Amino acid sequence: MKFKTERLQREWVELADRGGILVAVVATVDAAVHLVTGAEAVMTDMFRTEQEQIDLCEEMGLPHYRSVHEFWRGADFRSVHWTPEQAHDIVGTVNGQFAYGGRFVVAKIHQKGTAQHLHCQVPPASRAVIWRGGK
Ligand SMILES: [Zn+2]
Repeated sequence: MKFKTERLQREWVELADRGGILVAVVATVDAAVHLVTGAEAVMTDMFRTEQEQIDLCEEMGLPHYRSVHEFWRGADFRSVHWTPEQAHDIVGTVNGQFAYGGRFVVAKIHQKGTAQHLHCQVPPASRAVIWRGGK
């Protein structure tokens, strides 16, 4: 797995220390991207401070909303170079392994902000992600 910035690489280490199911989700994305595209996954965003989230909303011209990225519950990956079929396979593989519960999904292609990306998220710690353990 590659990281867009050194900060993201440090955040990945911190996430591992924090524990939680997002570590397993990110590892699954990494494996799925490599399997489907033959290339390494590139993480483009993980933790955001509250101020960074406010600034991002302003940049996008959106009303302010809280993001899972502010709570160590989200990670983004570069997806612009994937074919629609590859994106479909990668998203399907991740969501085949993990269920968010309710009307949300763990992985989806997002067209938010600057470029299309794969967004992954997990619910708050008080709620369990269902680990499907494969199909
Ligand atoms: Zn995201």
